[in-house]
Amino acid sequence: MKTVSVIGAGFAGLSVSLKLAQKGFQVDLYESSSRVGGLLGTDTTEHGIAERAANALIRTSKAEDLFRELGLTPSLPLDSAKKRFLFRGKPRTWPLSIFETVGLIGRVLPKLLRGKTSLKPRPQETLEKWGLRLLGPSATQHILGPAMQGIYGNEISGLSASVILGPLFSKKKKEKYQGLLTGAGGMQDLVDHLEAKLKELGVRVHLNASVNVSELKGPIIVATSASSACRLLKESHPSLSQVLSEIRMSSLMSVTLFFNKPQTTYQGFGCLIPRGYGLKSLGVLMNSYIFADRNKTYNETWMMGGEKEQDLLSFSDSDLLKLIADERFRILGHKESLLDYRINRWDKALPYYDLQLEKTLELLKSMLPAKELYLHGNYLGGIGLSKILERSDVLAEEIASRYA
Ligand SMILES: Cc1cc2nc3c(=O)[nH]c(=O)nc-3n(C[C@H](O)[C@H](O)[C@H](O)COP(=O)(O)OP(=O)(O)OC[C@H]3O[C@@H](n4cnc5c(N)ncnc54)[C@H](O)[C@@H]3O)c2cc1C
Repeated sequence: MKTVSVIGAGFAGLSVSLKLAQKGFQVDLYESSSRVGGLLGTDTTEHGIAERAANALIRTSKAEDLFRELGLTPSLPLDSAKKRFLFRGKPRTWPLSIFETVGLIGRVLPKLLRGKTSLKPRPQETLEKWGLRLLGPSATQHILGPAMQGIYGNEISGLSASVILGPLFSKKKKEKYQGLLTGAGGMQDLVDHLEAKLKELGVRVHLNASVNVSELKGPIIVATSASSACRLLKESHPSLSQVLSEIRMSSLMSVTLFFNKPQTTYQGFGCLIPRGYGLKSLGVLMNSYIFADRNKTYNETWMMGGEKEQDLLSFSDSDLLKLIADERFRILGHKESLLDYRINRWDKALPYYDLQLEKTLELLKSMLPAKELYLHGNYLGGIGLSKILERSDVLAEEIASRYA
């Protein structure tokens, strides 16, 4: 039986190990920390659960298959989660005036009629430039900006349009968006089920591992963050490591707040917050209105951070809570008292999807796979879990066709 070494047991490493083990490979999964899951995890408090990072996956057919294979019953969003707010003076379900909406239709419709490729981003174009060119200033500031920074944790003035939007213009058939899914106990449920399944399939999970890539035999998948991959490959693959060193990492914080009573003015998935209002928050998730099992005590998760707000990570808990309380009052107009909170500071943990990453991904195309070495993770074109899962499938297929 051919052995494959997977380094890093975040969602990328766990999911690709599963796919390889299912194809009959012996998998050694090396994790430097004392637990698997990487960024994924759920804290349990007496008031309910708090996600450390991701709160759900997009409900693609592959994600549904994964839950089925793991015997994990998915928790699906409530109807209330269909409502999403964007802040413009107050949370609104549609932030543009009639005038601006007609202007937006007038700009986009003729291009769509000419074919969707007329909307394709240009190389080295930021999302902001793309938006201003095709959607106009209002939709760019009030829709595109908050939506994208809610996913990528950074302002659109730095994000690459072609890395982020490029896949929408590929010929590959796209699935209709069907919402989200998670485990009843949150994302830790998914991590626990993945870990149990790997053990059942004979995957050898090595925790607290210190790996030397040059000493491993057979195919290797490096499934760590970009910065860890850069360090890991410094000796064995110096030119690849040099290219990876160009990837900038940015920070994000998730702050879950449990309140003594719910706010009922805005009941929806959450509210995204554009720049230009002097607010630091990127957005808020109204957890109790998203999943049925999150309403033990009404709770919200506030997201903050990004390249321009790195300083926020050094705020004390009390300064951060005060800042959020002020912003919460400005955004939602509410001041319920706080029962408990959980803060997760993810310092330089996420790749910055900027124009530099666009150049790096171009370079990597010609360098990978490097003999028996494969890369996996959230810096390779898909930051979200459903994209990572897709890549796990592709990698497992590729390795199976080469080595099985
Ligand atoms: C606050 C926040 C909210 C998010 N929300 C969502 C969401 O709602 N939906 C969504 O789809 N995505 C979301 N994401 C993104 C998603 O969670 C991540 O992109 C994804 O979890 C990354 O998985 P990964 O396996 O690539 O990396 P990681 O989770 O970073 O895992 C890498 C693993 O490699 C290990 N490692 C590092 N160096 C070594 C080494 N030398 N040897 C061995 N092991 C090593 C690390 O310890 C870690 O366990 C969110 C991210 C954040 C931070």
